[in-house]
Amino acid sequence: MTTPTPIEGILNITPYVGGDATAEGLARIVKLSSNEAATGASPKAIAAFRAVADNLHRYPDGGCADLRAGLAEMHGLNINGIICGNGSDEIISHLIHSYAGAGDEVVYTEHGFLMYPLGAMASGATPVKAAEDEFTASVDAILAVVTERTKMVFLANPNNPTGTYLPLSEVERLRAQLPETVLLVIDDAYAEFVSRNDYSPGIELVEAHDNVVMTRTFSKIYGLAGLRLGWAYCPEEIAMVYHRVRSPFNVNAAAQAAGLAALQDVAHTDAARAHNDRWLAWWQDECRRLRLQFIPSVGNFLTVHFGTQGPHTAGAAAEFLRRRGILPRGVAAYGLEAYLRFTIGLEEDNRAAIAAVEEFLSTTDGV
Ligand SMILES: *Cc1c(COP(=O)(O)O)cnc(C)c1O
Repeated sequence: MTTPTPIEGILNITPYVGGDATAEGLARIVKLSSNEAATGASPKAIAAFRAVADNLHRYPDGGCADLRAGLAEMHGLNINGIICGNGSDEIISHLIHSYAGAGDEVVYTEHGFLMYPLGAMASGATPVKAAEDEFTASVDAILAVVTERTKMVFLANPNNPTGTYLPLSEVERLRAQLPETVLLVIDDAYAEFVSRNDYSPGIELVEAHDNVVMTRTFSKIYGLAGLRLGWAYCPEEIAMVYHRVRSPFNVNAAAQAAGLAALQDVAHTDAARAHNDRWLAWWQDECRRLRLQFIPSVGNFLTVHFGTQGPHTAGAAAEFLRRRGILPRGVAAYGLEAYLRFTIGLEEDNRAAIAAVEEFLSTTDGV
């Protein structure tokens, strides 16, 4: 080699591709491809964002003190265990860089979020996939692939793109059977949407053990995906590791201000959850009416089965919808070639999407 070479693994990475945001020649787009909040950001968050404009020459607070205090108060947490990032993606990457490298294994689940294997490879570690059961993480399958080389286990709860979740009892069973040296990362990007009695984001697990981290985001229910803001709750020792590797001003001032305002606008969050409850149920009812199978979801999206053969494949559906300005997310990269994932949108967007799907299914040739 006569040119600089990156560390092993990097060149094997297929870069992450976000959801489609445009369709050629169409002005009005129904973007249901990235699980952004249908109800948008809180007006209070938008006002807080604007107010930061007068102080753009100032560095942000590198410690995110006000935001962390707000999170500690809202969730009843030890503030020293709260860390913030430029999206939860940044936290996930730094955790992997800190805890897994060449020769180490990072476990994730069959249809789990792609950031985990990509992050592992970026760190020179080996991603290891654990089978799922009915599109749901399986504690036994995860434990079966854990070896002495395993450094981390990632569990998205609920998972994207399946929308399924594990009850707290199962997450506790997983934690109890993992070696204490393995870091369990519970990615709760959709936690605020879930209202199930047997679900918990896992704060109690973080507080009771030295090897559990919970990551959260402002990109989903809080509607701040464009600002890039995530946080995590971890044992203080892990928080200190993160502070060593993160850049000193990793969270910008606008994100900190808007995030705190969004957090405190509980009425807006409640309205977002109520909107999702209503329209997620509607989507599932409509899929039943159209005899489309779907993966039962507790998130703000629904992954719907089309097929891989005949005229009505997932690919044909995506193309049919795209020509009408409706953009779902293809999930073939997640091993779900026969499916499309639809974010729950505003009423008119949901109705437009289902009407187009119905029209697609009524065609004999899928075009
Ligand atoms: C959307 C999403 C995130 C959030 O990523 P950000 O970097 O905070 O925008 C994290 N995990 C999962 C599973 C997601 O779907």
